[in-house]
Amino acid sequence: MKTLNERHDYGLDLQLLSIDEGIKGYRDDSLLAVEKNRVEYGLPLTILSYQDLYGWTMDDIVAKIGKKNNCTFCGVFRRQALDRGAFKIGATKLVTGHNADDMAETVLMNVLRGDIARLERCTNIVTGEEGDLPRAKPLKYCFERDIVMYARTNQLEYFYTECIYAPNAYRGYARKYVRDLEKVHPKAILDLIRSGEKLAVRKEVEMPTLKTCERCGYMTSQKLCKACLLIEGLNTGNTDLGVRKTKKTRVTDEQQGGGGCGSGRSNGTGNGNGCACAGAEDEETENEEVRKKIRDLQF
Ligand code: SF4
Ligand SMILES: [Zn+2]
Repeated sequence: MKTLNERHDYGLDLQLLSIDEGIKGYRDDSLLAVEKNRVEYGLPLTILSYQDLYGWTMDDIVAKIGKKNNCTFCGVFRRQALDRGAFKIGATKLVTGHNADDMAETVLMNVLRGDIARLERCTNIVTGEEGDLPRAKPLKYCFERDIVMYARTNQLEYFYTECIYAPNAYRGYARKYVRDLEKVHPKAILDLIRSGEKLAVRKEVEMPTLKTCERCGYMTSQKLCKACLLIEGLNTGNTDLGVRKTKKTRVTDEQQGGGGCGSGRSNGTGNGNGCACAGAEDEETENEEVRKKIRDLQF
């Protein structure tokens, strides 16, 4: 982005935003790479941590709940953390590093979960344009291997390591399936993205209505947002809260919450966070009022 900004005189005021989930041996190492990026590119860097925002690190959460549903927590928390961080630094747009591989996996996961709301928008290159913080995915058609090759060829500082909790991620299965598909049909990734782009939800299909969380003011379709539910579950020992499906509360799962990066890999090329965490950032708001309230959140 910095190179393009300078080459084409976009006039963008770029800043780096990174989220520290609190995963020793993974995020702490990748944050070193991000810090080197800050120096190398001469861009301001803001890091928000789960510990500061939610009172829990991912390591603490895993110690509490075991190695199950980890990405559910991580994905929900990261999405909210990115929004909060963006508003904190006064950003007017949030650019993430989702690549073509991420997009294809997300389409597949949304199909498997029957999540039509996300299916309709998960392949959009820009979302939330009607709100205060549009999100853009400029690498949506770039294959992960090409991004890594570009970084190596240009000797860029990057970090490519799998999260220690990734082996339990649902997205990992989708990734393996997509890679197997690619072996027999090299266009599989692009075909999946195109399929997602062509899908449209019929008007009569009921979609969730967004409002604000009664506790923290974040957007939600329920009384409490997913992050607040998850935190309450952690604090009270009811760790199924916000995770288990109920009739009233649609589940926060890896895909909804985000599935995090799924791979847990961190490439340091995209969102300043390294971890692509594709699903984690798929939930969008189309409610301008809600966006405004998020801006007023206390940090
Ligand atoms: S794999 Fe990604 S979403 Fe899951 S715990 Fe690791 S960093 Fe978080
Ligand atoms: Zn909340």
